[in-house]
Amino acid sequence: MEPLDRRTIWPYRDGDPGEFYYQRYDHPTGVEAERALGKLDGGEALLFPSGSAAVTALVLAELAPGQTVALAEGAYYGTGALFASLERWGLRFVEFDQTGPPPAGVDLVWLEAPSNPFLTMPDLEAAAAHPGRVVVDSTAATPVYLRPLEDGADYVVHSATKYLGGHHDLLLGAVVCRDAASAARLREFRGRTGIVAAPDSAWLLLRSLKTLRPRLERQTETARELAKRLQGHDAVETVRYPGFGGLLSFDVRGNARRVETSLNLIANATSLGGVDTVLESRSRWEGARVPENLLRLSVGLEDVDGLWSDLEQAIERA
Ligand SMILES: *Cc1c(COP(=O)(O)O)cnc(C)c1O
Repeated sequence: MEPLDRRTIWPYRDGDPGEFYYQRYDHPTGVEAERALGKLDGGEALLFPSGSAAVTALVLAELAPGQTVALAEGAYYGTGALFASLERWGLRFVEFDQTGPPPAGVDLVWLEAPSNPFLTMPDLEAAAAHPGRVVVDSTAATPVYLRPLEDGADYVVHSATKYLGGHHDLLLGAVVCRDAASAARLREFRGRTGIVAAPDSAWLLLRSLKTLRPRLERQTETARELAKRLQGHDAVETVRYPGFGGLLSFDVRGNARRVETSLNLIANATSLGGVDTVLESRSRWEGARVPENLLRLSVGLEDVDGLWSDLEQAIERA
């Protein structure tokens, strides 16, 4: 493993700052992790202390007061809530159906692939044809399944807290930029605002990226099988699964809370993308925006039959 360098300062050489001189601007472990992630997504990566910090930095750096974001309907609840809290600083946003073309006249198009927890996929071709810049929050797809910069996106956003980190022990975000000038602008803004990720988190990301592909492939295999079995279950109304990745959601006939509290192997917890399977009802956070009986399942690395027997017995108590 690359060494973890926690220093905040590095001495000048012959009176001049070198590549690293103050941690807020750049640090070696962060640069190493950014190089690894940038290679996976085919762009220039910048780390932030959380996915939400990455979203905040990107919209503040990209937009001026009065400009408008078109946000994918049914995207991560926190993104819409964050945009709403930035409205008093002049940010405007409208929601639209990302399976079709974005509305005219917006400055930034914000897609999510696939959306969390509705699992819709964006029409990237229609978005790329829009004159506004395009951001794809690719947290749930990861570069294993999607490289949006190749499909015309300008920026990819990740909550690295989820699949990239993968172990429920790391809070981190990233923006991957298609062009170097945008990356330079965002890096400058990040250094000035101090919205920077710590070396420890960057080091944990480097550790996690080594197993990203095998984790995702195994999670996909298990999630596909669970989606199929859920579809065939009498007590399940709707199953949403895009065909890849470890995230799915389903509506249960009956009481979702009772399913949550009847689990043994699967943890009743929030978040997604880790090696341990978690399930939660999303209406506790999102209210009427989601069906009351919607359960979001993030499939980990446990044995598929063990997961199914736990799910099956819990669903029967709904
Ligand atoms: C969790 C999540 C975020 C926010 O990331 P944090 O690391 O929790 O700040 C953004 N987008 C999506 C799709 C997410 O799932």
